[in-house]
Amino acid sequence: MEYVSSRDKNLRVSAAQAIAAGIAPDGGLFCPTTFPRLTAEDFQKLMTLDYKGRAAWILGQFLTDFTAEELNSFAQKAYADEKFGGADTAPVKSLADGVHMLELWHGPTCAFKDMALQMLPHLLTASLRKTGETTRTCCILVATSGDTGKAALEGFANVPGTKIMVYYPVDGVSPMQKLQMVTQTGDNVEVVAIKGNFDDAQSAVKRIFTDADSAKRLDEAGLMFSSANSINWGRLAPQIAYYVSAYCDLVQAGKIAQGDRVNVCVPTGNFGNILAAYIAAQMGVPFGKLVCASNQNNVLTDFFRSGGTYDKNRPFYTTNSPSMDILISSNLERLLFYISGQNDVLVKEKMEELAKTGVYTIPESLREQLTAHFAAGCCDDAKTAETIRTVFDQQHYLLDTHTAVAYRVYEEYRAATGDNAPVIIASTASPFKFCKPVAAALGHPIQTDGTEQLDALAELTGETVPAPLAALAGKSVRFDRVVDKDDILSTLDLLM
Ligand SMILES: *Cc1c(COP(=O)(O)O)cnc(C)c1O
Repeated sequence: MEYVSSRDKNLRVSAAQAIAAGIAPDGGLFCPTTFPRLTAEDFQKLMTLDYKGRAAWILGQFLTDFTAEELNSFAQKAYADEKFGGADTAPVKSLADGVHMLELWHGPTCAFKDMALQMLPHLLTASLRKTGETTRTCCILVATSGDTGKAALEGFANVPGTKIMVYYPVDGVSPMQKLQMVTQTGDNVEVVAIKGNFDDAQSAVKRIFTDADSAKRLDEAGLMFSSANSINWGRLAPQIAYYVSAYCDLVQAGKIAQGDRVNVCVPTGNFGNILAAYIAAQMGVPFGKLVCASNQNNVLTDFFRSGGTYDKNRPFYTTNSPSMDILISSNLERLLFYISGQNDVLVKEKMEELAKTGVYTIPESLREQLTAHFAAGCCDDAKTAETIRTVFDQQHYLLDTHTAVAYRVYEEYRAATGDNAPVIIASTASPFKFCKPVAAALGHPIQTDGTEQLDALAELTGETVPAPLAALAGKSVRFDRVVDKDDILSTLDLLM
């Protein structure tokens, strides 16, 4: 399978090259030029496999320069039972009215990012080998809105031949997310707070990637860059697997029949997770509407509802679902590439408009594609809290703030359209990562700050604190550096 830059189809690479590079040299995102199609036999076979087997098989469809043996061995390590609290890596919990929660947060950092970031270090180190990159140390630069940072640190800590540097917005993450990052152990890790928001951090990292001077400096020091953000195909590919797996689980549990249409609703920030669902649909998983759920930073809701005008010129809100506080959704670029029939010239033009003016509008002819596949909605902090409370009171199921956004947006989608198909809602984080807003939603605000929050929420709800969060108690802070967003280049010295 070949990969091309979304901005220039003449830039053709293998999967290993795409993963090693992270982003295309012209600033585009690497995209596979075809999607594998799942046959009825493929579904039959997938039903018989566990999560590890399904993930390896699906990755094999995309990463054709990796052997089945390699991918199976990676999946065994990435999704080892002891890392995911048991054999059920990505369980589906069914609630009332055909709502099925796909719980993606049973990994080591309690957010869905683990599903990809436990796999990426294996894919990346193998990709470096396959592309002949054996001498330079690979420096992973990560911009995080809270969860990616910790998941990437956990995935890459002490991986030979790599260093990892995480940038997070100083006031933009939850106390638990921050504690997870600043206490990270490992000899090859660095964590820096940026005075700015997530978009500032992400833009700065993208700038470093495409800055010729920085590349030269690094090269001279025996280093190279790569990315663990969802701009890297190696981040996105493992996410496709859990959508296919969830569909198989619903069939196996007798909740649906093979071939039944199921909608998918995803709490969305950088558009990576929902793009993975779109790709699963393109592969032949019978998904109906993909519902894109946003918080008060509703740039994507407006994009879909306006029929394709993206306008990031608007206030940035800090919300109780910080991992979705994003105004520039990187992976929308890949969607544009596919719905335009892989029109690299168009994508390049629109991305240049976005960089210059902050706005672009897709051609009229592409609008139907958007509405055929997607619906969108948004929900503010007050409605998010109300949803957490209602779902807990009525169904005794505890939602985190991000998943609650999706739950609410889906309820509103159903009420507005009468579409009663079953739905898979991506549950993206443990509620224990966001103790304060969750407890406040339940009517019992928590006053304590450190890890005592965890016990307070456990007591309030009768739920168990996830072991990796409980283990933060008593860990010492290793990283307290704060830099201005314009000084980010100077932090590269930390890697030298
Ligand atoms: C990252 C994240 C999201 C957003 O996912 P994208 O792939 O960026 O759209 C939603 N919820 C949680 C908890 C996250 O960590």
